[in-house]
Amino acid sequence: MNGTPIIEKAAAALKAGAVMTDPAGLAVLRPDNPLIDGCVPPVGVVRPENAGELGKLLACANENAMNLCVVSSAGSHYHGTFASDREHLLVDLSSWQGIPWINRRNRVCLIEPGVTYGQLLAALDPEGLTVSMPLAPPAGKSVLAACLDREPSTWPNKQWDIGDPVASTEFYFGGGQRFRTGAAGGPGSLEAQRAAGGAQKCPTGPSQTDFHRVIQGAQGTMGIVTWMTIRAEIKPTIQKPFLLVDDNPGRLVSFVYAAQRPGLGEHSFIVNRICAAMLINAARRGKKPCPAESLPEYICLQNIAGFEVLPKERVAYQVEDIREKSRQAGLKMKRSLRRISADEFLGIATRPCGDSDWRRQPTGDYLSVFFLTTLDRTEELIGVFESIAGSCGFGRDAVGIYIQPVTQNHACHMEFIVPYDRQRDIDAARKLEQESTAALMENGAFFSRPYLSAGNRVLCRNPQNLTVLKKIKDIFDPNRVLNRGKWGL
Ligand SMILES: Cc1cc2nc3c(=O)[nH]c(=O)nc-3n(C[C@H](O)[C@H](O)[C@H](O)COP(=O)(O)OP(=O)(O)OC[C@H]3O[C@@H](n4cnc5c(N)ncnc54)[C@H](O)[C@@H]3O)c2cc1C
Repeated sequence: MNGTPIIEKAAAALKAGAVMTDPAGLAVLRPDNPLIDGCVPPVGVVRPENAGELGKLLACANENAMNLCVVSSAGSHYHGTFASDREHLLVDLSSWQGIPWINRRNRVCLIEPGVTYGQLLAALDPEGLTVSMPLAPPAGKSVLAACLDREPSTWPNKQWDIGDPVASTEFYFGGGQRFRTGAAGGPGSLEAQRAAGGAQKCPTGPSQTDFHRVIQGAQGTMGIVTWMTIRAEIKPTIQKPFLLVDDNPGRLVSFVYAAQRPGLGEHSFIVNRICAAMLINAARRGKKPCPAESLPEYICLQNIAGFEVLPKERVAYQVEDIREKSRQAGLKMKRSLRRISADEFLGIATRPCGDSDWRRQPTGDYLSVFFLTTLDRTEELIGVFESIAGSCGFGRDAVGIYIQPVTQNHACHMEFIVPYDRQRDIDAARKLEQESTAALMENGAFFSRPYLSAGNRVLCRNPQNLTVLKKIKDIFDPNRVLNRGKWGL
């Protein structure tokens, strides 16, 4: 079905004004990332008013073989993870911004797809709660989409399972069935469950199923989530962050292992100076920039916090214990470097960074290659990436490195960020993305969130995976209405 009939059918199924085709509005939703090949703009944008309307849209899509893509973040869509290379309608849920339920006792809240980190932090604050979040997310970033995409958070010891902080969810499968997972799966309505003391916090269920895992990480190909409950955390009442620095990551890695093993400390990550300068300069926009050369080669942020019970005492003993770990690793804990204090750096890391992603700060465009590994392998993988970057014309000083322990440091997210000049370096950036992804994969990097060339490589590596995925798609989205053709599905 092409353009006009799709729009007419969708408009007939929904309330007047729910489908937008204004070219200027559509242009905003087209990802402007030169590394994403072949994506086409949507023929229209649909903004269903509520879950009931969304259900009608899905029924109409299934009857009329439409292709739907879904977006929940607002603002710049540089990543454009929802993009499609086929004709499609874009379902925009960014205006669903309700946070109808916050439960302090069980530390859990219910959010709609368009809620941003700024909105959620403000809503949780009066309850003495906060939430673990990705490193300085853009202002329009949807919390629900970040959790669905398993973006790593800077607070690794609050993550027990790779799916955290997702608790319960409600979604429509592509086939149009409305479904609830986790404790919310039943029996009873949400209200009845709450009256009986339930809090929709458990992610497993209903029964022995765990279907949110089919939707999580699927990049909008299996279902559309209408709300999610997520785990909130007690807000620290005192924070005392420290910075540890070195010329290479080796001793910092030993320190992070030593601190994370007994569960000491709170927010924790390692960046190289290129990455640190991007973060600092994006936050200090308009002020005197902080040159990367003025920072140490590698910086580890280690936050220490006290909560509601004996906060000063907790900070005092944790400082002593963590200082001992740093001594054993041959490092010093500092409250401040020449160009940045630990307090400012923690603030930058744990607040939204503004309209644009901080990675765009140096040149407007960047390549990022990211995957899961373990901390002990990071130095080796840095060597692999830097050698290919060098052969593509990007020296060591052009590569930002972000190492984020996840799930209590059982693994780590590793990210290489290479800002480049769109006019001059696009071919080199493309070559670097393809060659480095292949080489890193060959060396054991695990691309659990595959984008760009990693998507096809992951599926080609194990053809059985693709067969299984196709079977799953046949069950949950038999008419291929969600991002048809992505990953060959
Ligand atoms: C080229 C590229 C580079 C990237 N670089 C990085 C990086 O350096 N570090 C990093 O951590 N991440 C990175 N990512 C991942 C990216 O940050 C996230 O996927 C981000 O959420 C994309 O935001 P968005 O505005 O495009 O879409 P969002 O609206 O945030 O949607 C993200 C994904 O979730 C799906 N989705 C949204 N809402 C729903 C819903 N209600 N139900 C079901 N599915 C939904 C979308 O279809 C899409 O696939 C990159 C992605 C790409 C393509």
